[in-house]
Amino acid sequence: MGEVRQLGRRIELISIDPHFHDISIGLYERADPAGGASYLAHTYSRVAGTDGRMADLVGAMVTLGGMEPVAGEPGVVRFPCGTGHRTAVKRIFVEAGKLADVASAEGLVPRVEDKKFELAVSVTNEGGGRYRIVAEGENERKAMRIRAIAGGLRRLAELDEVEGAEDQVAFPCGGDHDVLMALLLPRALNVRAAMREQEDALLRGVLAAPSAQAAF
Ligand SMILES: [Zn+2]
Repeated sequence: MGEVRQLGRRIELISIDPHFHDISIGLYERADPAGGASYLAHTYSRVAGTDGRMADLVGAMVTLGGMEPVAGEPGVVRFPCGTGHRTAVKRIFVEAGKLADVASAEGLVPRVEDKKFELAVSVTNEGGGRYRIVAEGENERKAMRIRAIAGGLRRLAELDEVEGAEDQVAFPCGGDHDVLMALLLPRALNVRAAMREQEDALLRGVLAAPSAQAAF
């Protein structure tokens, strides 16, 4: 028999992997009986070395997104909180696909230079899934900029607003996602570009050059 593994629903696609023989890799969502979701990275490629490339990609998702491998299920990852966070996972998958190997996926900190506004932007974990955006530096439009970044984070990961706190966002699960926040923060400074990049990757089957990651 051929491949009979239940893939689930495909939610994202790397049509051409620039780091491994231009193979296509899909990301599949699988509903959890307990109510959450897990995600499978899968390719139909039979090129020698594919298993190693897939292990690197999934390892990079774990490192970049704060996800965890699912025991006994190669290629499957989930969040420790068990919640799907589908939009965030798609972003993690695309970012992991830009990296040549798992070793490149180290060293993210939740802090970024906002060059346009001359601010140093970071996030702090306020507990209960809430994160506060902090901006250091002098700029009369600082409060507005913080609100815009909060809006960007909400879009990138389907986060909630926090009533009475425009400088905060909240994960609906109420859990900690420090690692994921470090990945999302630089993208939230220019969320339109981040979304466009994802759409372009799907449409053209071409991923942005890895050097584009540090562009903001
Ligand atoms: Zn969560």
